[in-house]
Amino acid sequence: PVRVRFAPSPTGMFHVGGARSALYNWAVARQSGGVFVLRVEDTDAARNKPEWTEGIINALAAIGIHQDDPTFEGPYFQSHHAERHREAAEQLKASGHAYYCDCTREQLTARTGSEHLGYDGFCRDRGLAYAEGRALRFRTPDEGETVVKDVVRGDTVFPNKAIEDFVIARGDGSAVFLLANVVDDLDEKITEVIRGEEHLSNTPKQQLLWEALGATPPVWAHLSVIVNEKRQKLSKRRDKVALEDYLAEGFLPEAMVNYLMLLGWSPGEDEEILPFEELVRRFRISDVNTSPAFFDIKKLTAFNGEYIRALTPEQFLAACAPYLTAPYATWTPEQFDQALFETVAPLAQTRLAVLSEITANVDFLFLDQPVEDEASWSKAMKPGADAILRDARSAYETAEWAAEPLKETLLAIGEKHGLKLGKAQAPVRVAVTGRTVGLPLFESLEALGRDRVLARLDAAIA
Ligand code: GLU
Repeated sequence: PVRVRFAPSPTGMFHVGGARSALYNWAVARQSGGVFVLRVEDTDAARNKPEWTEGIINALAAIGIHQDDPTFEGPYFQSHHAERHREAAEQLKASGHAYYCDCTREQLTARTGSEHLGYDGFCRDRGLAYAEGRALRFRTPDEGETVVKDVVRGDTVFPNKAIEDFVIARGDGSAVFLLANVVDDLDEKITEVIRGEEHLSNTPKQQLLWEALGATPPVWAHLSVIVNEKRQKLSKRRDKVALEDYLAEGFLPEAMVNYLMLLGWSPGEDEEILPFEELVRRFRISDVNTSPAFFDIKKLTAFNGEYIRALTPEQFLAACAPYLTAPYATWTPEQFDQALFETVAPLAQTRLAVLSEITANVDFLFLDQPVEDEASWSKAMKPGADAILRDARSAYETAEWAAEPLKETLLAIGEKHGLKLGKAQAPVRVAVTGRTVGLPLFESLEALGRDRVLARLDAAIA
């Protein structure tokens, strides 16, 4: 049976690249009736934090992914298996695949004349016994080649003589990550390793470890890097990379999942927005691209808008709820009016690209005064604006209070001043909502009510 795994290191927020790897693994497991293993690679105590682990597990859960192994409720934690990793290192020593080495970095540099060359094999045949401080090195073959079979990239051939005798256990006997990662995959009976390209250079070494441990290596699949619009590798210092941040901002999990599935793979036939089950059905790991995948926030945002529009009205109200209270809301809980919100929510649903935008779209309904935005104000209050505001003020005192007549009224006022509706609308919009863009104006006026609209027009009239 197919057994895949996602093996994050909890050293930070959950990177969208990690989310893509997790989804591809999940898709492979689902389409083959296989098992998805979640393994937290938490052996780097200096860089790991429990809150990162929790964050990753929660973010995965938000996109529908969790440990799914009938033999172990999980997730697996690499740190729980340190003893087993150490034993595997000793096993490799006992079988003649590894030897102890007491060379220092300085000695090696002195011998090879460079700080950058690999290990020269000095201790290979010295037959050193274990002593505190001696590292254990894997003896790589001198001849032949290691062929990494990768379903995404095809075969990559590594001449064995170019693979140095690498360290598998430290001077205190603890296994290094490279070995721990292999031993866990072996013990968890992983059949396919789908992961980021940054691990490709370690793969020949890992494959040699699998073979030396007497096991058949898994099928490998290395996914391309993800780049920003400048074709730079996405980095947490420069780019917005955390899945948690996207979700918090109001990207829907379904939209994220859909978009992330397309980072380096296409379901074909120019169809892009598809339910996850359908994406899973069509997904083929062998069809994944080797070229860098462009993380296109504009496209993701457009996807998100589509997903927002596909929500039922009830779902939309529920999805907006977090953005109508602190820390997003600029109004107090007493100022908020759910019924009023519900009158404009359908207008918002057709326009939002990201859920958190709802806050600025509806704040005029709840704040006593519209937001004061100097730039919007000076943009809309051109010469002539005052006359529009005055005429609107007096006509709206008696106009029938519904969107359509309010619009007709302003249209007529605009005509009188030689202005198209768009131009006549601008000062009214800013006076009432504080902003130059927002929900359809006349529906907004209707929702806000005559008294509050008149008061805001009064306040805006010079
Ligand atoms: N823990 C590694 C990482 O987060 C993954 C290693 C692997 O997938 O084999 O980069």
